[in-house]
Amino acid sequence: MMNSYIVDGHCDSLIDFVNNNRTLEESSAGGQWDIERAKRSGVALQFLAAFIETKYKPDRSLQRGLELIEGAHRFIGSHLDQVFLIQTKRDLEQIPHPSRLGVLLSVEGGEILGEDLFMLDIIFKLGVRALGLTWNQRNALATGIGEADVRQKLTHLGQDVVQRMNKLGMMVDVSHLNETGFWHVLDISKAPIAATHSCAKALCAHPRNLTDQQLRALGRHKGVVGVNFYPRFLKETGVATRNDVVRHICHIAEVAGVETVGLGSDFDGIEETPEGLGHVGDYNYLRDDLVKIGFSSQEVEQIMGRNFMRLLSNVLK
Ligand SMILES: [Zn+2]
Repeated sequence: MMNSYIVDGHCDSLIDFVNNNRTLEESSAGGQWDIERAKRSGVALQFLAAFIETKYKPDRSLQRGLELIEGAHRFIGSHLDQVFLIQTKRDLEQIPHPSRLGVLLSVEGGEILGEDLFMLDIIFKLGVRALGLTWNQRNALATGIGEADVRQKLTHLGQDVVQRMNKLGMMVDVSHLNETGFWHVLDISKAPIAATHSCAKALCAHPRNLTDQQLRALGRHKGVVGVNFYPRFLKETGVATRNDVVRHICHIAEVAGVETVGLGSDFDGIEETPEGLGHVGDYNYLRDDLVKIGFSSQEVEQIMGRNFMRLLSNVLK
């Protein structure tokens, strides 16, 4: 029996909660993530993303972002016996907690800031500790991977945001950022960064995935890649199994070092899942696969959660 705990760098379940589709308490129709199965699998820390959907951009990005953040606090507040919010390095010391699941609040999409740096301080005060600078589109900070012009670096505001995030103790997430922006962030960030939910481009040539060069650079900067479970990022056919997740884990470990690998399921943000890894309750099978393929128990612990914990302890204040 392995006693490794899991850190999952990304799920979109908060939207279901805020839209009153699910309570996220236990397994329910259509849901991939819930407290019950997460705890049973040994998830100790879950990044909960406030993903600002395209239909709210640009005009209502802030309203929707705040609605999701308020929803996260309502979710945590109504399950205080089972969930607690991670905001500081000291909070990390409680992980793995014997009975409660740690939650780290992240915002996916710098649109929430509009064009104002002070908004970053406001969402920090609201408990947000990670920010994806972009989703797939361009915004006032930077350019996402969905835009045709790939040469765009961060804007002046985007650079200020990264520097301010370093000061406040917030984690920069580059998962949806264009490649030019990725290199720009690495150039200016004083703290390590993460691609919380991305895969390896060498195995699947999707624009959302990272080249070996990017993976190596993340490793050099003590960053982490959370391997995404979306079949279209795992395999070009768009049909994948749990073994494809293992292949991406192995590749990133080989190219960038095992200390660079993490997990970022994207549960409840993906309409398809790999065979054998359909929900957060299936994490045990993945853990067994990693042992079987030859990772040492220490390496399995790193991949399943300790690498993300190290990154957070280097970023949070
Ligand atoms: Zn995403």
